[in-house]
Amino acid sequence: MAQIIKVQKGTKDILPQDMAVWHKMEAAALEIFTRAGYKEIRTPIFEATELFQRGVGDTTDIVNKEMYTFEKSERSLTLRPENTAGVVRSYIENGMHRLSAPVKLWYKGPMFRYERPQAGRQRQFHQVGVEMFGIEDPSADAEAILLALNYLKKLGLPNLSVELNTLGCANCRKEFRALLIETLRPHYDKLCDDCKERFEKNPLRLLDCKVESCKEIFALPEVQQVIQSDYTCPDCSLHFERLKNYLDNLGVNYTVNKLLVRGLDYYNRTVFEIKSENLGSQNAVCGGGRYDTLVSNLGGESTPAIGWAMGMERLAALLPQSEEEKLDVYVVSDNKLEAIKLTERLRALNYNVDFDMAGKKFSKQLEKAAKSAHFAIILGEYEINGEYLTLKNLDTSTQTQFPLVNLSDFETHTYKFISTNSSEWLQSKLSMLASGFVM
Ligand code: ATP
Ligand code: MG
Repeated sequence: MAQIIKVQKGTKDILPQDMAVWHKMEAAALEIFTRAGYKEIRTPIFEATELFQRGVGDTTDIVNKEMYTFEKSERSLTLRPENTAGVVRSYIENGMHRLSAPVKLWYKGPMFRYERPQAGRQRQFHQVGVEMFGIEDPSADAEAILLALNYLKKLGLPNLSVELNTLGCANCRKEFRALLIETLRPHYDKLCDDCKERFEKNPLRLLDCKVESCKEIFALPEVQQVIQSDYTCPDCSLHFERLKNYLDNLGVNYTVNKLLVRGLDYYNRTVFEIKSENLGSQNAVCGGGRYDTLVSNLGGESTPAIGWAMGMERLAALLPQSEEEKLDVYVVSDNKLEAIKLTERLRALNYNVDFDMAGKKFSKQLEKAAKSAHFAIILGEYEINGEYLTLKNLDTSTQTQFPLVNLSDFETHTYKFISTNSSEWLQSKLSMLASGFVM
């Protein structure tokens, strides 16, 4: 036999039995973001490498170590490690700055980072995220954070903690950077290799290093004094105060974490993360912030912006395993032609229906029906001759009969038949019926 080819390290199949949770995350995204005026955007999975070098920043781990870059026709291309840069490129290229602000966009899809695979960390993973362009006022920051929380609430994950910080702007950061470098320099030799490498280029990034010996250095009183100091300029400071004020008034719980700096270079002012205690060490489900200079850095008109992204695998790990999605009806019959005809009629009435094509015995077909559907319709010889159906509720194993001609009344028949202990499936079908979606 030919050798089996396996899935690549750090990548995973999302199998049919896992899909219920993914459909839930995707449906909730469409619903919650649409309700807040966001429009979906789908940008390509590969872009010019330069987009990420200039967009994400070439002092970041993402650009330095984690990109999947390849050459094609003498062009350097990269599989997107995140999607803000791609969305900004599209915003500029499609002249979206001419639309009335704010321009609100959301996306979902795979991202690629060459990282060490571990629980909650893959090389191909999925993000759902939003970007809002054109509003400088901190009400936009508050709305973005609320939107993330509303999405998590919709998924039934309401109690996650929000951490917030401000990075100030390039101006106020300059002084802080210098002070930080000066304070940390005596401890340089004890820093980890990553921190040493970032020391001059991006000293703020040192602060969220997870290496214990580095954390000990940052806990020293003289270092803490610098970290905890308020270095932001009056404008940035006011922005942060106003954001906190919005959140307080909106009843959003958060903690200010001065060590939160985020791994991407483009952030300024507001940065935030949403974390779950139930995820072990990869505990961040959402990361975001303001990026007021990115649009102009990538060649567009200067446009304030804010956005966030959530890791969908990490969300999926927090959600209860949903039961595999079942068919509405499985048609059990020895007569394939009649089975196809009935299946077609029911599908045309918007039911999810399948039937046996493998020529299985009646009893085996019933077993298959019990595993894969809420109802079986039995179409035996008697039924075909008598032009009626036997409808079997596979959750309760009760059955009833009704004439084939009244197939469009399937819902009513089904309802009468199990109105006493109607399943979750039927409840939802009936509420759709009541609201006029299904005739
Ligand atoms: P982390 O600190 O966990 O590496 P990050 O700061 O690199 O996260 P972002 O680039 O802000 O993450 O991405 C936002 C979210 O995407 C993260 O909060 C996380 O949920 C998810 N995420 C990031 N990298 C991965 C990965 N390699 N595998 C799975 N999910 C990821
Ligand atoms: Mg990372």
